[in-house]
Amino acid sequence: MNILILNAGSSSVKFGLFDAEARETLASGLIDWTADPQRAPLVIQRPGAEEVRSSVEVTDHRTALVHVVQSLTGTAGGESGQDDVITGVGHRVVHGGAVFRDSVGIDDGVKAAIARFSELAPLHNPPALEGIEAAQSLLPGVPHVAVFDTAFYAHLPPSAYLYPVPYEWYTDWGIRRFGFHGISHAYCAGRAAELIGHDLRELRLVSCHLGNGCSATAVRGGKAVATTMGFTPMEGLMMGSRSGSIDPGILFYIQQHRGITAEQLDDLLNHRSGLLGVSGVSSDFRRVEAAARSGDERARLALEMYAGRVRAAVGALAVTMGGVDGLIFTAGVGEHSASLRATVCEGLDCLGLRLDGQRNAVCQPDADIATPDSPGRIVVIHTREELMIARETRRVVCNLMNVDEQIR
Ligand code: ADP
Repeated sequence: MNILILNAGSSSVKFGLFDAEARETLASGLIDWTADPQRAPLVIQRPGAEEVRSSVEVTDHRTALVHVVQSLTGTAGGESGQDDVITGVGHRVVHGGAVFRDSVGIDDGVKAAIARFSELAPLHNPPALEGIEAAQSLLPGVPHVAVFDTAFYAHLPPSAYLYPVPYEWYTDWGIRRFGFHGISHAYCAGRAAELIGHDLRELRLVSCHLGNGCSATAVRGGKAVATTMGFTPMEGLMMGSRSGSIDPGILFYIQQHRGITAEQLDDLLNHRSGLLGVSGVSSDFRRVEAAARSGDERARLALEMYAGRVRAAVGALAVTMGGVDGLIFTAGVGEHSASLRATVCEGLDCLGLRLDGQRNAVCQPDADIATPDSPGRIVVIHTREELMIARETRRVVCNLMNVDEQIR
């Protein structure tokens, strides 16, 4: 009895198979039909084994999942026997609006709500829904669970989720902060508490998810109390190709005086800004770091701005909680760039966060990289969103089946 988790993109699906306790990864992989639907690569990795690659024909999410389920279970889904192998399916859904405050079993009402929120997450919710429909038709006998990135922010106080604009924007149009990367921040907060050896309910943490998209979240007592991403995943930190927060007056100025349309601005701020926009080199942190090392001044400037914005966010979020017991670095950049972590931590002594240069330089996540005498801990955590989705799926499935999680 295992849990399958799915993270569906427009023409790709990431998947993972976990044991019934949602502790061990039995397999993980990716099927991607972006480049060539006739010969889409299907990659499966099982712990301790060689990666298995094949190429398959994919016409839509359903055919993609047929290949995935077949490879994982040896049956074609919808066949008798698959229920023995897969007992629940967890689906990653980026946007649950302000409605979903928790993971839920998927029924028609849930699907309709996810469809409604597509307007807020046009790149993410529609493929998630396609993945859900495909998986439900293929595995009809098992519960399907939606795990939302926004749910971690369900308990933000109004003062943190409202914008200082006419109140009717919120009541009439639903303009508010939602927050994103919640699955990652929630996982990392729990893992940080384990590493620090302290009860999560008593900790004040600032979690920095620094990947292609970047956000930082203040977590007090295991709950998100403030975050940098807002109504959309464009707000807050400087990112790979997204600007993060800028003066909204710039947008009006450019539209009114430079003849740039709203659509062009959307593209410029989402795809041509951030590290890419400033450096002119790439949105990929590694490439910008390499350019900076070889003397490229704009690349160096981009890195300085990126780190400076993370540092400022850490300060703001820490102050929101009246202090910080632990700073978390996670995702591609946070987990791998020792120099970025070192630059961010310059000056954080004032918050009781002292980085150990040596520990930072040799760090293998998950690791504590603060000096032994640092009042607050600094930890680097390998984010495991799939594992978190599996745990959530297990929890919801146990509830649906009225089974006590502890005795299963
Ligand atoms: P996503 O947000 O799409 O899940 P990731 O979390 O994988 O992406 O993060 C991607 C970013 O991590 C890229 O900018 C990449 O350059 C950066 N990254 C990955 N490995 C390293 C590394 N060894 N050093 C510095 N940056 C890295």
